Amino acid sequence: MKLVSIVVPMYNEEEMAPIFLKEVSAVMSSLKDYNFEIVAVNDGSKDNTLDILKSSLKDYPNLVIVNLSRNFGHESALHAGLINARGDAVIPMDADLQDPPSLIIELIKKWEEGYDVVNAKRKSRDEDTRFKRGTAELFYKLINKLSPKVKIPENVANFRLIDRKALDVVLSLSEKSRVFRVEVPFVGFRVGEVLFSRPKRDKGYSKYNTKAMVNLAIDSTISLTNRPLEWCIGWTATMGIITVLSIISEIVIAILLALDVLSFSWMYMLIWLIVNIVLIVGCVLMVQLSIMSLYLAKNIVETRNRPDVIVREVIRKE
Ligand code: UDP
Ligand code: MG
Repeated sequence: MKLVSIVVPMYNEEEMAPIFLKEVSAVMSSLKDYNFEIVAVNDGSKDNTLDILKSSLKDYPNLVIVNLSRNFGHESALHAGLINARGDAVIPMDADLQDPPSLIIELIKKWEEGYDVVNAKRKSRDEDTRFKRGTAELFYKLINKLSPKVKIPENVANFRLIDRKALDVVLSLSEKSRVFRVEVPFVGFRVGEVLFSRPKRDKGYSKYNTKAMVNLAIDSTISLTNRPLEWCIGWTATMGIITVLSIISEIVIAILLALDVLSFSWMYMLIWLIVNIVLIVGCVLMVQLSIMSLYLAKNIVETRNRPDVIVREVIRKE
């Protein structure tokens, strides 16, 4: 029988942990054709999450606890869980039941249709505050504009099913600054989707404040694309054109002044000259910055050391 792992990072989830285990186990027992394990990662909780998980071991024999040495944050906790999951497919979920356990059935159904990754996509963001909805929309628009090849699916968080072969490639990425929802689209494979409405958190509190969201957006962008570094070249070119036009104009006007065709204050010409000198110095610096950006971008690619190509399968005549 195939094994499916549910990976759930938990930080101060003492209220949600027992409810989560109960709800997920109920769904599991309705799926008789699969074995399941729940990999719960205690991300340095300061409340009783760990004790609750430990005492749940007797009721839930398929529970695996990964206890981190301190709080590392959602993405790192998820990674620790993924490393320890043994399933043929793995489903990361939040502990607060905002990722409805009933959707596990649909995710597995899609997986059996041959999809390697099945995204759980939110139907709408009506439940969110206007601020969260607006910033999320802007974020997806921006990041997908910056990245023409790898597209980040809108309104898909970590909740999805990922097949072992795609997960192994994700885990083989050696970078330290990880964003799961960007790594999965990067590795590609055959991607399907199921839709769901995201309920509000049942108990406990959200650990994502605005600062954490901004950090996630920055990490996602840097992990996906070097485009912002390349902008420097465009700005340099624009500034170069402005500088050349300004210098040519000043020379032409200076000649016309010398020929008495124009009457124009030499004082203005001096100020213009100073502006041109500043522009020239600026251009020299910008060229230097562009060169550095290019080297930095190449360096990021090399140090991140991602595979340059990923093969899903090789098909030959029998
Ligand atoms: N989480 C974690 N470590 C952290 C912060 C959050 O493991 O440092 C877990 C948290 O317990 C939950 C999931 O990540 O299971 C998502 O967090 P939360 O529900 O607070 O995020 P939101 O839904 O508000 O974006
Ligand atoms: Mg939540």
